[in-house]
Amino acid sequence: MAKYNTLLYYCYSTINDAEQFAADHLKFCKSLGLVGRIIVADEGLNGTVSGPADACKAYMDAVHADERFKHTDFKIDEVDELSFVKMHVRYKAEIVHSGLRDPKIINPQVKTGKHLEPKDFLAMKDQDDVVILDVRSNYEHSLGKFRNAVTLDIENFRDFPAKINELAQYKDKKILTYCTGGIKCEKASALLLHEGFENVYQLHGGIIKYGKEAGGEDFEGKCYVFDNRLSVDVNSVNPAVISKCFNCGKTTDKMINCANPECNEHFTQCDECGTVMKGCCSDACKVHPRKREYDGTGYYVKVPQPVNTSKRAKIQLVE
Ligand SMILES: [Zn+2]
Ligand SMILES: [Zn+2]
Repeated sequence: MAKYNTLLYYCYSTINDAEQFAADHLKFCKSLGLVGRIIVADEGLNGTVSGPADACKAYMDAVHADERFKHTDFKIDEVDELSFVKMHVRYKAEIVHSGLRDPKIINPQVKTGKHLEPKDFLAMKDQDDVVILDVRSNYEHSLGKFRNAVTLDIENFRDFPAKINELAQYKDKKILTYCTGGIKCEKASALLLHEGFENVYQLHGGIIKYGKEAGGEDFEGKCYVFDNRLSVDVNSVNPAVISKCFNCGKTTDKMINCANPECNEHFTQCDECGTVMKGCCSDACKVHPRKREYDGTGYYVKVPQPVNTSKRAKIQLVE
Protein backbone atom coordinates (compact mmCIF):
# COMPACT_ATOMS: atom_id res chain seq x y z
CA MET A 1 0.00 0.00 0.00
CA ALA A 2 1.25 3.44 -0.86
CA LYS A 3 2.71 5.26 2.11
CA TYR A 4 3.53 8.59 0.54
CA ASN A 5 2.31 11.06 -2.04
CA THR A 6 4.37 12.82 -4.67
CA LEU A 7 2.98 16.12 -5.93
CA LEU A 8 3.83 17.71 -9.27
CA TYR A 9 2.68 21.26 -9.88
CA TYR A 10 3.44 24.70 -11.25
CA CYS A 11 1.81 28.10 -11.12
CA TYR A 12 2.58 31.12 -13.28
CA SER A 13 1.85 34.03 -10.96
CA THR A 14 3.90 37.12 -10.20
CA ILE A 15 5.88 36.91 -6.94
CA ASN A 16 7.29 40.31 -6.00
CA ASP A 17 9.49 39.09 -3.17
CA ALA A 18 10.55 35.86 -4.85
CA GLU A 19 13.99 35.46 -3.25
CA GLN A 20 12.63 35.97 0.24
CA PHE A 21 9.65 33.81 -0.60
CA ALA A 22 12.01 30.98 -1.60
CA ALA A 23 13.84 31.14 1.74
CA ASP A 24 10.59 31.18 3.71
CA HIS A 25 9.09 28.44 1.60
CA LEU A 26 12.06 26.15 2.25
CA LYS A 27 11.54 26.53 6.02
CA PHE A 28 7.85 25.85 5.61
CA CYS A 29 8.41 22.69 3.53
CA LYS A 30 10.94 21.40 6.04
CA SER A 31 8.53 22.07 8.90
CA LEU A 32 6.04 19.79 7.14
CA GLY A 33 8.64 17.06 6.69
CA LEU A 34 8.54 17.20 2.90
CA VAL A 35 11.36 16.37 0.49
CA GLY A 36 11.56 17.59 -3.08
CA ARG A 37 12.68 20.30 -5.40
CA ILE A 38 10.94 23.62 -5.93
CA ILE A 39 11.93 26.44 -8.25
CA VAL A 40 10.78 29.93 -7.31
CA ALA A 41 11.02 32.80 -9.80
CA ASP A 42 9.44 36.22 -10.21
CA GLU A 43 7.05 34.49 -12.63
CA GLY A 44 5.84 31.75 -10.27
CA LEU A 45 6.42 28.33 -8.73
CA ASN A 46 7.41 24.93 -10.10
CA GLY A 47 7.80 21.95 -7.86
CA THR A 48 7.83 18.26 -7.19
CA VAL A 49 7.48 17.39 -3.52
CA SER A 50 7.08 14.10 -1.73
CA GLY A 51 5.97 13.20 1.78
CA PRO A 52 3.33 11.54 3.95
CA ALA A 53 -0.19 12.08 2.60
CA ASP A 54 -1.21 14.37 5.46
CA ALA A 55 1.87 16.57 5.00
CA CYS A 56 1.17 16.80 1.28
CA LYS A 57 -2.44 17.75 2.02
CA ALA A 58 -1.31 20.47 4.43
CA TYR A 59 1.10 21.74 1.78
CA MET A 60 -1.55 21.91 -0.94
CA ASP A 61 -3.97 23.67 1.40
CA ALA A 62 -1.33 26.28 2.27
CA VAL A 63 -0.46 26.92 -1.39
CA HIS A 64 -4.12 27.25 -2.33
CA ALA A 65 -4.74 29.59 0.59
CA ASP A 66 -2.28 32.06 -0.94
CA GLU A 67 -4.20 34.33 -3.32
CA ARG A 68 -1.31 34.21 -5.82
CA PHE A 69 -1.44 30.43 -6.14
CA LYS A 70 -5.10 29.61 -5.58
CA HIS A 71 -5.46 28.10 -9.09
CA THR A 72 -2.50 25.72 -8.75
CA ASP A 73 -3.32 22.32 -10.18
CA PHE A 74 -1.60 19.51 -8.23
CA LYS A 75 -0.98 16.16 -9.87
CA ILE A 76 -0.94 13.63 -7.02
CA ASP A 77 0.80 10.25 -7.25
CA GLU A 78 0.74 7.57 -4.58
CA VAL A 79 4.24 6.17 -4.07
CA ASP A 80 5.83 3.53 -1.86
CA GLU A 81 9.02 5.48 -1.32
CA LEU A 82 9.85 9.16 -1.15
CA SER A 83 10.81 10.50 -4.58
CA PHE A 84 13.67 12.66 -3.23
CA VAL A 85 16.31 12.50 -0.54
CA LYS A 86 16.35 16.18 0.52
CA MET A 87 14.29 19.35 0.33
CA HIS A 88 15.50 22.13 -1.97
CA VAL A 89 13.82 25.43 -2.76
CA ARG A 90 15.81 27.57 -5.19
CA TYR A 91 15.33 31.02 -6.63
CA LYS A 92 15.99 31.16 -10.39
CA ALA A 93 15.31 33.52 -13.27
CA GLU A 94 12.58 31.29 -14.70
CA ILE A 95 10.51 28.41 -13.32
CA VAL A 96 11.43 26.41 -16.41
CA HIS A 97 14.58 27.28 -18.28
CA SER A 98 13.57 28.47 -21.76
CA GLY A 99 15.66 31.59 -22.27
CA LEU A 100 12.33 33.43 -22.84
CA ARG A 101 12.71 35.71 -19.88
CA ASP A 102 11.23 38.99 -21.00
CA PRO A 103 7.66 39.01 -19.69
CA LYS A 104 6.87 41.86 -22.07
CA ILE A 105 7.34 39.42 -24.96
CA ILE A 106 6.43 35.99 -23.56
CA ASN A 107 4.15 35.98 -20.54
CA PRO A 108 1.85 32.99 -20.07
CA GLN A 109 -0.22 35.00 -17.61
CA VAL A 110 -1.16 37.35 -20.46
CA LYS A 111 -1.15 35.16 -23.56
CA THR A 112 -0.66 31.43 -24.00
CA GLY A 113 -2.15 28.53 -25.95
CA LYS A 114 -5.72 27.51 -25.23
CA HIS A 115 -5.75 24.91 -22.46
CA LEU A 116 -7.26 21.55 -23.36
CA GLU A 117 -8.40 19.19 -20.64
CA PRO A 118 -7.22 15.57 -21.19
CA LYS A 119 -10.59 14.36 -22.53
CA ASP A 120 -10.73 17.24 -25.04
CA PHE A 121 -7.13 16.64 -26.10
CA LEU A 122 -7.99 12.97 -26.70
CA ALA A 123 -11.03 13.89 -28.79
CA MET A 124 -9.11 16.38 -30.93
CA LYS A 125 -5.66 14.92 -31.38
CA ASP A 126 -6.31 12.66 -34.41
CA GLN A 127 -8.28 15.15 -36.48
CA ASP A 128 -6.88 15.87 -39.96
CA ASP A 129 -6.02 19.50 -39.32
CA VAL A 130 -4.19 18.78 -36.05
CA VAL A 131 -0.48 18.41 -35.34
CA ILE A 132 0.57 17.04 -31.94
CA LEU A 133 3.81 18.68 -30.87
CA ASP A 134 6.05 17.24 -28.16
CA VAL A 135 8.01 20.18 -26.72
CA ARG A 136 10.29 17.98 -24.57
CA SER A 137 13.87 16.88 -25.11
CA ASN A 138 15.41 13.80 -26.74
CA TYR A 139 15.92 11.78 -23.55
CA GLU A 140 12.25 12.30 -22.72
CA HIS A 141 10.48 11.61 -26.02
CA SER A 142 12.79 8.68 -26.77
CA LEU A 143 11.35 6.93 -23.70
CA GLY A 144 7.73 7.73 -24.50
CA LYS A 145 5.52 10.04 -26.57
CA PHE A 146 2.09 10.33 -28.15
CA ARG A 147 1.58 8.24 -31.26
CA ASN A 148 2.08 10.46 -34.34
CA ALA A 149 3.57 13.30 -32.32
CA VAL A 150 6.09 15.63 -33.93
CA THR A 151 9.27 15.62 -31.83
CA LEU A 152 12.23 17.99 -31.88
CA ASP A 153 15.90 17.07 -31.80
CA ILE A 154 16.77 19.07 -28.69
CA GLU A 155 18.82 18.23 -25.62
CA ASN A 156 17.22 20.93 -23.50
CA PHE A 157 14.04 23.02 -23.51
CA ARG A 158 16.09 26.19 -23.89
CA ASP A 159 16.82 24.97 -27.46
CA PHE A 160 13.11 24.99 -28.30
CA PRO A 161 12.94 28.60 -29.57
CA ALA A 162 15.65 27.87 -32.16
CA LYS A 163 13.51 25.05 -33.58
CA ILE A 164 10.47 27.18 -34.32
CA ASN A 165 11.47 27.55 -37.98
CA GLU A 166 11.21 23.78 -38.46
CA LEU A 167 7.54 24.06 -37.50
CA ALA A 168 6.64 26.66 -40.15
CA GLN A 169 5.20 23.88 -42.36
CA TYR A 170 2.42 23.43 -39.76
CA LYS A 171 1.36 27.06 -39.60
CA ASP A 172 -2.09 26.43 -41.09
CA LYS A 173 -2.77 23.51 -38.72
CA LYS A 174 -4.06 23.35 -35.20
CA ILE A 175 -1.04 22.79 -32.97
CA LEU A 176 -1.57 20.75 -29.80
CA THR A 177 1.47 20.99 -27.57
CA TYR A 178 2.22 18.73 -24.64
CA CYS A 179 4.94 18.17 -22.08
CA THR A 180 5.35 16.33 -18.77
CA GLY A 181 3.21 18.43 -16.44
CA GLY A 182 2.17 21.36 -18.61
CA ILE A 183 4.67 23.97 -17.51
CA LYS A 184 6.84 24.03 -20.65
CA CYS A 185 3.77 24.28 -22.86
CA GLU A 186 2.75 27.53 -21.21
CA LYS A 187 5.82 29.19 -22.73
CA ALA A 188 6.17 27.03 -25.84
CA SER A 189 2.59 27.75 -26.92
CA ALA A 190 2.99 31.43 -26.03
CA LEU A 191 6.06 31.56 -28.27
CA LEU A 192 4.19 29.84 -31.13
CA LEU A 193 1.45 32.47 -30.88
CA HIS A 194 4.07 35.20 -30.79
CA GLU A 195 5.61 33.72 -33.96
CA GLY A 196 2.33 33.91 -35.85
CA PHE A 197 0.81 30.48 -35.34
CA GLU A 198 -2.89 31.10 -34.89
CA ASN A 199 -4.45 27.89 -33.60
CA VAL A 200 -2.35 26.85 -30.64
CA TYR A 201 -3.59 24.58 -27.87
CA GLN A 202 -1.82 22.98 -24.92
CA LEU A 203 -2.51 19.84 -22.91
CA HIS A 204 -3.42 21.16 -19.48
CA GLY A 205 -1.56 19.26 -16.75
CA GLY A 206 0.59 17.48 -19.33
CA ILE A 207 1.13 13.77 -19.79
CA ILE A 208 0.81 13.13 -16.05
CA LYS A 209 -2.74 14.47 -15.80
CA TYR A 210 -3.64 12.87 -19.13
CA GLY A 211 -2.63 9.49 -17.68
CA LYS A 212 -4.95 9.98 -14.75
CA GLU A 213 -7.94 11.44 -16.58
CA ALA A 214 -7.81 9.88 -20.05
CA GLY A 215 -6.11 6.57 -19.20
CA GLY A 216 -3.06 7.69 -21.12
CA GLU A 217 -4.64 6.47 -24.37
CA ASP A 218 -2.23 6.51 -27.36
CA PHE A 219 0.73 7.58 -25.25
CA GLU A 220 3.42 5.08 -26.24
CA GLY A 221 6.16 4.18 -23.77
CA LYS A 222 6.80 5.70 -20.38
CA CYS A 223 6.95 9.25 -19.14
CA TYR A 224 10.31 10.54 -17.92
CA VAL A 225 9.99 12.38 -14.59
CA PHE A 226 12.45 14.61 -12.77
CA ASP A 227 12.78 12.68 -9.55
CA ASN A 228 14.19 9.39 -8.34
CA ARG A 229 11.47 7.37 -10.01
CA LEU A 230 13.04 8.29 -13.41
CA SER A 231 9.91 7.24 -15.28
CA VAL A 232 6.24 6.50 -14.65
CA ASP A 233 3.60 4.46 -16.47
CA VAL A 234 0.93 6.54 -18.15
CA ASN A 235 -1.11 4.37 -20.51
CA SER A 236 -3.58 1.86 -19.06
CA VAL A 237 -5.68 1.68 -22.28
CA ASN A 238 -3.30 0.60 -25.09
CA PRO A 239 0.25 0.61 -23.74
CA ALA A 240 3.24 0.05 -26.03
CA VAL A 241 7.01 0.11 -25.62
CA ILE A 242 8.98 2.34 -27.99
CA SER A 243 12.37 2.71 -26.29
CA LYS A 244 15.37 0.51 -27.00
CA CYS A 245 18.18 -0.94 -24.93
CA PHE A 246 21.14 1.45 -24.99
CA ASN A 247 23.52 -1.50 -25.32
CA CYS A 248 21.89 -4.01 -27.70
CA GLY A 249 18.96 -2.17 -29.28
CA LYS A 250 16.30 -4.60 -28.07
CA THR A 251 12.95 -3.05 -27.17
CA THR A 252 12.78 -2.27 -23.46
CA ASP A 253 11.30 0.44 -21.25
CA LYS A 254 13.47 -0.32 -18.22
CA MET A 255 15.19 2.92 -17.33
CA ILE A 256 18.12 2.73 -14.92
CA ASN A 257 20.91 4.76 -13.42
CA CYS A 258 24.39 3.64 -14.44
CA ALA A 259 25.90 1.66 -11.55
CA ASN A 260 28.97 3.85 -11.69
CA PRO A 261 27.99 6.69 -9.33
CA GLU A 262 30.32 9.12 -11.04
CA CYS A 263 28.55 8.50 -14.35
CA ASN A 264 25.01 7.96 -13.02
CA GLU A 265 23.65 8.33 -16.56
CA HIS A 266 19.93 7.62 -16.98
CA PHE A 267 19.41 5.18 -19.83
CA THR A 268 17.27 2.25 -20.95
CA GLN A 269 18.81 -1.21 -20.63
CA CYS A 270 17.30 -4.69 -21.07
CA ASP A 271 17.64 -7.29 -18.29
CA GLU A 272 20.08 -9.43 -20.34
CA CYS A 273 22.44 -6.49 -20.87
CA GLY A 274 21.91 -5.48 -17.25
CA THR A 275 23.34 -8.84 -16.20
CA VAL A 276 26.25 -8.71 -18.65
CA MET A 277 27.04 -5.04 -18.03
CA LYS A 278 26.32 -5.23 -14.28
CA GLY A 279 23.98 -2.25 -14.66
CA CYS A 280 26.57 -0.05 -16.37
CA CYS A 281 26.32 1.95 -19.58
CA SER A 282 29.83 1.12 -20.76
CA ASP A 283 32.81 -1.14 -20.16
CA ALA A 284 34.63 1.80 -18.59
CA CYS A 285 31.88 2.24 -16.00
CA LYS A 286 31.78 -1.52 -15.38
CA VAL A 287 35.36 -1.51 -14.07
CA HIS A 288 35.11 1.82 -12.22
CA PRO A 289 36.45 1.44 -8.64
CA ARG A 290 33.33 3.01 -7.12
CA LYS A 291 30.86 0.91 -9.13
CA ARG A 292 27.81 0.02 -7.04
CA GLU A 293 26.40 -3.49 -6.68
CA TYR A 294 23.75 -4.05 -9.38
CA ASP A 295 20.71 -5.78 -7.86
CA GLY A 296 18.64 -5.86 -11.05
CA THR A 297 16.69 -2.68 -10.32
CA GLY A 298 19.25 -0.07 -11.43
CA TYR A 299 17.93 2.10 -8.65
CA TYR A 300 20.26 3.55 -6.02
CA VAL A 301 18.30 6.24 -4.22
CA LYS A 302 18.60 4.90 -0.70
CA VAL A 303 22.27 5.77 -0.38
CA PRO A 304 22.84 9.25 -1.84
CA GLN A 305 25.91 9.21 -4.07
CA PRO A 306 27.84 12.03 -5.65
CA VAL A 307 26.95 12.24 -9.32
CA ASN A 308 28.75 13.49 -12.37
CA THR A 309 28.34 17.24 -12.05
CA SER A 310 28.19 17.93 -15.79
CA LYS A 311 25.26 15.54 -16.09
CA ARG A 312 23.58 16.93 -13.01
CA ALA A 313 23.82 20.40 -14.56
CA LYS A 314 22.18 19.07 -17.69
CA ILE A 315 19.24 17.65 -15.77
CA GLN A 316 18.73 20.75 -13.66
CA LEU A 317 18.61 23.05 -16.65
CA VAL A 318 15.48 21.41 -17.97
CA GLU A 319 13.46 21.75 -14.80
ZN1 LIG B 1 20.17 -5.04 -24.20
ZN1 LIG C 1 28.05 4.84 -17.04
